[in-house]
Amino acid sequence: MRFIYGPVPSRRLGLSLGVDLVPKKTCSYDCIYCQLGRTTNKTIQRDIYIPDQPIIREIEEYLDHMKTPVDYITFSGSGEPTLHSRIGSIIGEIKGMTSIPVAVITNGSLLFMDEVKGDLSQADLVIPSLDAVSRTIYETINRPEESLEIDQVIQGMVDFRAQFRGQIWVEVLYCRGVNDDPSEITKMKTVVEKINPTRIQLNTVYRPPAEDFASPLTEERLKEIQEDFGSKASIIAPYRGDNFLGAKGVVETRIINALNRRPLTAEDMAEMLGLHPQEIIKHLKSLLDGNTIRYRLHGRKTFYEIAS
Ligand code: SF4
Repeated sequence: MRFIYGPVPSRRLGLSLGVDLVPKKTCSYDCIYCQLGRTTNKTIQRDIYIPDQPIIREIEEYLDHMKTPVDYITFSGSGEPTLHSRIGSIIGEIKGMTSIPVAVITNGSLLFMDEVKGDLSQADLVIPSLDAVSRTIYETINRPEESLEIDQVIQGMVDFRAQFRGQIWVEVLYCRGVNDDPSEITKMKTVVEKINPTRIQLNTVYRPPAEDFASPLTEERLKEIQEDFGSKASIIAPYRGDNFLGAKGVVETRIINALNRRPLTAEDMAEMLGLHPQEIIKHLKSLLDGNTIRYRLHGRKTFYEIAS
């Protein structure tokens, strides 16, 4: 499978089958906290980055042989999925194949384009991120493609909310000393009220970031912000998943596939693969010895990633 991955335990979507529509790392942003590293192709040019038929075939094949029910089919992965100009028809094809809800995790930067709003109209859930509402903070944290303006991005989200029938969960990721100033939080509250999402999800730097200076907020500070945002707001908590591994013989392949997407802790992988952490550590040791993976320390946790 080249374009789909998982199912992976998602911090907000339960078990999620991921669909990757753009090559790593194609994005309109270059966020300082990005777990995929720095953006190598920063663009707002929509294109058929990957032909859609092979993507559809992989999804079809997965659904035909699905052993583990998934909660969502989720567009996310190696960059910004709305940059794929056929995302609308791909969502349409999926809706014709299955009743599993479709989610799109997006940075929301292209929602000012009418064709993007139209393309996402068939999704069940759209999760746009909005980390800043002031221009300088937006440019510092998201490092957007040069033509993007935060006011236009916000208006795109407001307009999309007005016409979209599904759920919208706005995610705000906080980096210490960057976008957590009380005045920015007050402005953010006003903007989020205007967007009127179904939920507000607060996040912080949990995985190794693109830039070492992107630091997490303490749990206490995030809770204070949550209280400020009111009853729609929640803090995204690490997932506690069930066992969904098939054959044990594929453990190392599953680990490699998962790490190809993002860095994970041994605990993440234990939950994801439904194995005891000691069993995972045994496989990790073998992959470390073979220089297939490496580890990085971040926030007092050890994250494993593919050795480049
Ligand atoms: S976090 Fe998302 S929006 Fe930001 S650079 Fe990474 S892929 Fe792009």
